[in-house]
Amino acid sequence: MSNAELEGWTRVRGRLRTEVGDDVYSSWFARMDLEAIEDGAVRLSVPTRFLKSWIQSHYAERVLACWQAEDTKISRIELIVRSAVLKSTVPPKKPDITVAGNEAGSRFPSGNGHGRPISLGDSGGHEALGGSPLDARLTFESFVVGRSNTLAHAAAKQVAAARRSDPVMFNPLYIHAGVGLGKTHLLQAITWSGNAAGERKVLYLTAEKFMYGFVSALRTQTALAFKEALRGIGVLVIDDLQFLQGKSTQAEFCHTLNALIDAGRQVVIASDRPPSELETFEDRVRSRLGGGLVVEMGSLGEELRFEILKARVQAARSHHPSFDVPLPVLTYIAKTVTHNGRDLEGALNRLLAHSKLTGQPVTLEMAEREVRDLIRPQEPKRVKIEDIQRVVARQYNVSRSDLLSSRRTANVVRPRQVAMYLAKTLTLRSLPEIGRRFGGRDHTTVLHAVRKIEGLVGNDMALAEEIEILKRQLQE
Ligand code: ADP
Ligand code: MG
Repeated sequence: MSNAELEGWTRVRGRLRTEVGDDVYSSWFARMDLEAIEDGAVRLSVPTRFLKSWIQSHYAERVLACWQAEDTKISRIELIVRSAVLKSTVPPKKPDITVAGNEAGSRFPSGNGHGRPISLGDSGGHEALGGSPLDARLTFESFVVGRSNTLAHAAAKQVAAARRSDPVMFNPLYIHAGVGLGKTHLLQAITWSGNAAGERKVLYLTAEKFMYGFVSALRTQTALAFKEALRGIGVLVIDDLQFLQGKSTQAEFCHTLNALIDAGRQVVIASDRPPSELETFEDRVRSRLGGGLVVEMGSLGEELRFEILKARVQAARSHHPSFDVPLPVLTYIAKTVTHNGRDLEGALNRLLAHSKLTGQPVTLEMAEREVRDLIRPQEPKRVKIEDIQRVVARQYNVSRSDLLSSRRTANVVRPRQVAMYLAKTLTLRSLPEIGRRFGGRDHTTVLHAVRKIEGLVGNDMALAEEIEILKRQLQE
């Protein structure tokens, strides 16, 4: 693949990220790779069938549009599931340069933990009965407790240590936090530790696995066996609940949840949002989910990041005794790589790989070079609707209250539409929310504005330029 193509791909990803927002992007697109561009067709690969079908049914047009904005000759997107041997843009990791490497520790530093390849079809319903694979490194021992996760950690410990005869204290335990803040780590720690205690069988399932397990179980008519298997477990742990989609899957999930809770079994759930914000779930499911203990884990503070790094280096040293990271480097990474636990892991993996491959000690200078892109200066800033209104008003020489007013003269209608369009593309706000913030307008009005501007920028170069400039101002 040519450099130009790769650079184009980087821009396409940037566009996609801006359009769908960081969270959606990292959930669905972070592991999408460019394989080839041929005759107007772009071939992209993802690691699981699930991702493939999800992206195909929900984001195919968006992805195509982002490519077409890059290159008008592109007419088609082809999604494939890459097998483990296919090349990927992530450098292949040998076990001996994985931090705290071990047999199960083959996670790529940039992987997001869920959605490893799962085989479907051949093993049919039986597949559904096992849990999702666990990472041997994600235990309580390696979990660092800090201000942002004290409560979640304590609750998790409690659940893992409870005996069969103990009354269930909070059910379900519902932990929510943003990407990379330790949800999966905590859930797998519960699973390891609970199963090691041998008191209760703990089953860890990603929502993806629950969905596929259940769907394939239904298809092969072993739903009964699946339910039977669920009954045999003491603690059901479900990760990334926000990905559980589809009315019938959700209904079945609700059923399972109720059955388990009523039978005094523990349910533990992690999600990227609180129960009340699981928009696609029915009210009664949401209220059941919120009926136990709901705990949020906040972002990792600098101190916690530093401690996590320290612990990681320590763990890595048991496999790579010569690996040493001087304190100033740890401080530097803790200060600059602020995004989340995954990036911290990625940063250390790079230092380790670099020092292993070159045989040179880790220095501040090397660290600065290696982690530069993890600092993400290019990360789009969170843009506020007020800022958009202010900047647009200034650009078009109208007042902010004009934008919010019901006036319909041409000199305010267009700026208002531009501002709504920017609000939709640069923030994660929903159409109704944007409508409210623009003087209490209906969401259909916002949708109309967004479509209108989208339609115009395709033909009107001057407008496209204006909007680019506004975006740049807002994201600086
Ligand atoms: P989430 O599931 O919330 O997206 P993960 O549990 O996958 O996040 O965490 C991302 C990375 O950060 C993992 O490598 C994890 O081990 C690490 N991490 C996050 N929080 C902590 C913590 N408190 N202690 C140690 N490692 C952590
Ligand atoms: Mg996770």
